[in-house]
Amino acid sequence: MHDIYAALGVKRRLNAAGTLTRLGGALMEEEVIAAMAAAARASVDIGELQAAASRTISKITGAEAGIVTTGAAAALTLAAAAAMTRWDIARMAALPNADAFPNEILLPRTHYTGYAHALRASGARLVDLGHNDRGTGAGVRGIEAWEIEAAFTPRTAAFAFSANPANAADLPTVVSVCRKHKIPVIVDAAAQLPPKANLRKFLELGADLVAFSGGKAIGGPQASGILAGRRDLVGAALVQQLDMDVSPETWSPPELIDRQAMKGVPHHGLGRGFKAGKEEIVGLLVALERFAAADDQASNAALERRLQHIAKEIGEGVSTRIVPASETGKVPQLYVALKEPLEVSRRLQAGDPPVHLSERLASQGWLIIDPQALRAEDDAALARALRRALG
Ligand SMILES: *Cc1c(COP(=O)(O)O)cnc(C)c1O
Repeated sequence: MHDIYAALGVKRRLNAAGTLTRLGGALMEEEVIAAMAAAARASVDIGELQAAASRTISKITGAEAGIVTTGAAAALTLAAAAAMTRWDIARMAALPNADAFPNEILLPRTHYTGYAHALRASGARLVDLGHNDRGTGAGVRGIEAWEIEAAFTPRTAAFAFSANPANAADLPTVVSVCRKHKIPVIVDAAAQLPPKANLRKFLELGADLVAFSGGKAIGGPQASGILAGRRDLVGAALVQQLDMDVSPETWSPPELIDRQAMKGVPHHGLGRGFKAGKEEIVGLLVALERFAAADDQASNAALERRLQHIAKEIGEGVSTRIVPASETGKVPQLYVALKEPLEVSRRLQAGDPPVHLSERLASQGWLIIDPQALRAEDDAALARALRRALG
């Protein structure tokens, strides 16, 4: 099963750090793998396939429309592009040079993540606003309506919001001010799953576009994601992602693409470099259906039982704590208290097999076992490796 990696001389790693992109993201279920293999065996019209994806994504998220992208980061770039161009094909052709039209995306200081780059890659210029009082521990307020109003200019194209459990309460304020000014709100919800209720939550709160990763908790192909939201914006994103080497006479775009609204047929757009393949589209859709149908409580209970077992195997000498899903906001995790967490992590990663734990709270003296991408049959080996690393 792992011969392909062995043949390439690449080590298989025990991943108890979560669905990290650098470790290959989620592991896919057999049903998803089989769907991708089946998809690889026939030709289809990618526009028609994306239209089918839109129906499934709409059903599950409540969005007007949705497309499969090559990840949440790509979805953010496409969202920013769509917000700037709408159906204007001259603007599509100009990107990433966006100097001639509204190209400012408002991004609160507290929402500035490493993924802000994905918005900027569209050609948009980020404009920061707000305060980081809460982040410094000194303040209690989130984003306020007046500071959004003050940041609007005639060049404002969109508002970007990086969702997390703590800031979701600010979204209604953002939406109500932006609606008044007809400014689309783009939500980065890449890693806000589970809980699966978040597939609908940000759209219900009024976001115009939401980006999700397909290769994290959804369990789809690593290089997949979702852009869901307003039909016109999703359509404008799609047309900038498709192969557009087409004859105007014979091109038959899906309904999602409003041909009447465009002055002609656009060329390859900004998103052409991150095209979603038929295998990713189909794999993502099958994974999404599975993820939406899963029983969160039952799967969290099963994960907790596994973590209890791992804690027991690690043994008495180490202090561990199971943090339930209700506290992590995602899946249950096992916290391992260590004097030198990063030194232990380094030893684990250098071991045979290499083992990865989450270093997210290393500065507070914890390594975290996140079971999302850990195969149950590797639980015992993980505990052994940790015992070894602790000497
Ligand atoms: C993972 C992540 C992304 C990027 O997602 P990909 O699907 O890997 O492109 C963007 N934003 C946040 C907050 C993330 O956690």
